[in-house]
Amino acid sequence: MRLSAALLAVVSLSAQEGRQPLARAILKELIEINTTDSAGDTTRAAEVLAMRFRVAGFPEGDIHVDGPAPRKHNLVVRLHGSGAARPILFIGHLDVVEANGSDWSFDPFQLREQDGYFYGRGTEDMKGDAAILVTTFLRLKSNGFRPARDLVLALTTDEEGGPANGIDWLLKNHRDWIDAEFCVNADSGGGHIKNGKRLFMAVQAAEKVFVSFKLESANPGGHSSLPIKDNAIYHLAGALTRLAQFDFPVHLFDVTRANFERMAPLYGGQLGADMKTVVENSDDLAVVARLSATPLFNALLRTTCVATLLSGGHAENALPQMATAVVNCRMLPVDRAEEVEQTLQTLVDDPKVRVTVMTPAKASVYPPMNPQVLRAVTAATLKSWPGIPVVPQMETGATDGLYLRGAGIPTFGVSGIFFDEDDVRAHGRDERILVKSFNEAIDFMDDVVTTLARAQ
Ligand SMILES: [Zn+2]
Repeated sequence: MRLSAALLAVVSLSAQEGRQPLARAILKELIEINTTDSAGDTTRAAEVLAMRFRVAGFPEGDIHVDGPAPRKHNLVVRLHGSGAARPILFIGHLDVVEANGSDWSFDPFQLREQDGYFYGRGTEDMKGDAAILVTTFLRLKSNGFRPARDLVLALTTDEEGGPANGIDWLLKNHRDWIDAEFCVNADSGGGHIKNGKRLFMAVQAAEKVFVSFKLESANPGGHSSLPIKDNAIYHLAGALTRLAQFDFPVHLFDVTRANFERMAPLYGGQLGADMKTVVENSDDLAVVARLSATPLFNALLRTTCVATLLSGGHAENALPQMATAVVNCRMLPVDRAEEVEQTLQTLVDDPKVRVTVMTPAKASVYPPMNPQVLRAVTAATLKSWPGIPVVPQMETGATDGLYLRGAGIPTFGVSGIFFDEDDVRAHGRDERILVKSFNEAIDFMDDVVTTLARAQ
């Protein structure tokens, strides 16, 4: 790839002016390369970043741009250490969720700074964090930093659900490039802001497990002028109504218990009191009901299952021969898929509705929190935001940590970017991050990586 004059100018400018302009320039580059599954190209993004690493002096053999398809390449870069300990892997993803320009207030693929925010598809999820990781690795190289262990950066394709997950592909095809003692995933964790105030820094210590079921009701059908009560749509609707009224039992485990305990004093008031109570007594129905009114707290308390797709019938004037629904469950890592399926069977309670597994749960043992990671995050948080506590948290969604944990590489979510709990725009329109939070996160991530790099 040819190094453009503009890029050279940016590289040399950044070397003089420090990390913030460099991180911002990288963010701009990333945002302005469309990396959606439909029309985008993560290979272009990987190549542009690879060029920066070449210019910074990383040898060609330590830079890999490769992947499952021509426009689905990953970037893997290695900074060699003294070999005193096994490598640490840092991951993020280059791809972004689709963005329909006509829904947005401006072009989602242009970085726009306005009212203290960076706007653009991927600012929050997760080109902001990717730009910061790249900045950190470039800075370490330019300072001649020699880590005690290899530091590996992998920025991947298809995390958001394209056909070939980049981390999965790397594990299957080039495990040696990314093999590590443990992994830090910048796609999870991060600082929480509530009512304009920094509340806490979250470290992702566990995550929920994705599993989907299909509910099907089959029927001989017939002419709609001669209806009978035995109707596929009614059978399915009955089952879904029972599901709608059901809540899985509260099941706290070490990560969520510690999470609620530490959040209680930070939120305060009735909410804080409820968090404190639920840890001591999860049978208090009024407390559980109040907490469950907030989708995030509900998702932390229990396994959830929700209807996401529905279809049925074949003609306006015919009795339905088939009605189907998809129920997507997000299971606590301490619950079991067979038990969730059994619960659904019991709920459905109708021999005319068949429940089958559609997307099986991927086995996911969640590892104990790595003390090195927790110490590094705590020290960096204390330095950047004195008084802000670090809170281990369960991610309610799914991350690439799933594949790495499955391959025996414990993975923890760490990001330095603070976001407003009540204004999460990842995957949505007019996605944005605070410029101030982005800038502060550069120092935070630099501290975390440097501390981990020294740890034995
Ligand atoms: Zn993401």
